[in-house]
Amino acid sequence: MGKKTGFMEYERQKGNEVAPKKRVTNFDEYTRRFEDDVLSIQGARCMDCGTPFCHMGVEIRGMAAGCPIHNLMPEWNDLVYKGQWKEALERLQLTNNFPEFTGRVCPAPCEGACTVAIHDPAVAIKNIERAIIDRGFEEGWVKPRIPNARTGYRVAVVGSGPAGLAAADQLNQMGHEVTVFERDDRAGGLLMYGIPNMKLDKSVVQRRVDLLEAEGIHFQLNTEIGRDITKSQLQKEYDAIILCVGATVARSLHLEGSESTGVIRAMDYLTKTTKSVLANEPAPIDVKGKDVIVIGGGDTGADCVATALRQGAKSVHQFGKHPQLPMTRSEDQPWPVDPSVYKLDYAYEEAVEKFGQDPREYCIQTKKMVAYPDGRLKELHTIQMEKVINEEGYVYFNELEGTEKVWPADYVFVAIGFEGIEEELGEHFNVRVLNNRIYATKKYETSEEGIFTAGDARRGPSLIVWAIREGREVADVVHGFLKKRLAIAVR
Ligand SMILES: Cc1cc2nc3c(=O)[nH]c(=O)nc-3n(C[C@H](O)[C@H](O)[C@H](O)COP(=O)(O)OP(=O)(O)OC[C@H]3O[C@@H](n4cnc5c(N)ncnc54)[C@H](O)[C@@H]3O)c2cc1C
Ligand code: SF4
Repeated sequence: MGKKTGFMEYERQKGNEVAPKKRVTNFDEYTRRFEDDVLSIQGARCMDCGTPFCHMGVEIRGMAAGCPIHNLMPEWNDLVYKGQWKEALERLQLTNNFPEFTGRVCPAPCEGACTVAIHDPAVAIKNIERAIIDRGFEEGWVKPRIPNARTGYRVAVVGSGPAGLAAADQLNQMGHEVTVFERDDRAGGLLMYGIPNMKLDKSVVQRRVDLLEAEGIHFQLNTEIGRDITKSQLQKEYDAIILCVGATVARSLHLEGSESTGVIRAMDYLTKTTKSVLANEPAPIDVKGKDVIVIGGGDTGADCVATALRQGAKSVHQFGKHPQLPMTRSEDQPWPVDPSVYKLDYAYEEAVEKFGQDPREYCIQTKKMVAYPDGRLKELHTIQMEKVINEEGYVYFNELEGTEKVWPADYVFVAIGFEGIEEELGEHFNVRVLNNRIYATKKYETSEEGIFTAGDARRGPSLIVWAIREGREVADVVHGFLKKRLAIAVR
């Protein structure tokens, strides 16, 4: 695949991104696709390794290795190298319902499993994926595919995130009539309200939703299942129900002073900001000229950092409990698993440009928050910690005396992860809930006949690519379930 000696001749091209200084001035998407000739060379780096680990998509000791939806990247790398873009698009669409999302924001576990990555930087798989689909839309090759015949079966999908959309897409193409119910005013789940616009432009999400609608999927927005429509109403009208409701309950911070004005959940900040960007209105939470601290060292926290920078915060720090990640793959994360290594992600690159330093503070614990007499947040009190792993492998943190510090803060965004599903929903549907997730068999069946589940609601907070995989798989299961019903009906 690609050019046989390409991986020896060509280097990986760094991403095509708007310079940090320029991009922090707005909420526009900061990544661009490469020019075709650059992509051809990047495709040529695919080395014909024989066993493409990049597309195997398995979990090894809980760590992802390869692409969870088994994209056929050696084939499309070769086609892009040869300039056969339309054929590359056909291959891509065989496995991925929404490459325009993954090609922008997937963390690309495929690249961690790339054979070239054993010695050199991986093939730029994600950038090639994005270019193929973007070109497909530009050239008009992506058109509504309207099914020739309908089966007469009706499926309700609750939740319009990537899992719900993928399930709906697959089932619609199989000829079933699908309605997606969404309580928000726009479809897309965290693709729309969660991931900020600069990472994934909302017009890209809406373009796909419009396409799905043109293909025959019904979207019922501003409709909360369990409140506006009950389970029994759904069961009366639909032959199967799929719960793709996400894992939306955020973890709370239980600390002295955490009820102060200015302490806000990360998702509230991100969602409200996106809504104001879309409506072209002033942001309801505006940190211009303010001292901002983000508690939580993960990606949601990074998105808060990038958002605060765009609003013109005076200072931004991000607190994490864990030490800095290693610079290279550690021994307990052997190839082909996707390694957790230190990266200067987009938000941090922007902070370095603006403030001259990485905003991340490691091994830090907030002890308390202090407010002014009127309730407004004034400062955070912290202490440094050391992470210890004892002989039995048990991990704990020791506070280091003498490292206490006080940080001025007007706003704190709490991004310490998600608990799981909303309890009432499990109760309403009378489905078994285990560890804050909707319990399901390996075949995505809940404890209630005819009700299925997929995505974050089933597996816990995860990634778009896993949600797409689960959406595709649950669709196959539901199709089988409906076919069985048909067989019983004609007997
Ligand atoms: C801030 C943030 C940034 C992220 N960035 C990335 C990233 O860069 N790359 C990546 O791969 N992943 C990222 N993720 C994770 C990714 O977005 C999720 O794993 C993925 O969206 C899960 O898809 P889902 O379809 O299961 O659920 P969701 O996307 O959460 O969608 C669930 C939908 O169900 C709706 N819903 C819930 N209950 C009801 C009800 N009763 N009635 C009607 N509708 C209901 C919700 O409103 C929501 O729209 C990010 C997550 C967050 C929070
Ligand atoms: S979906 Fe993600 S893992 Fe799969 S090929 Fe694209 S970037 Fe890689």
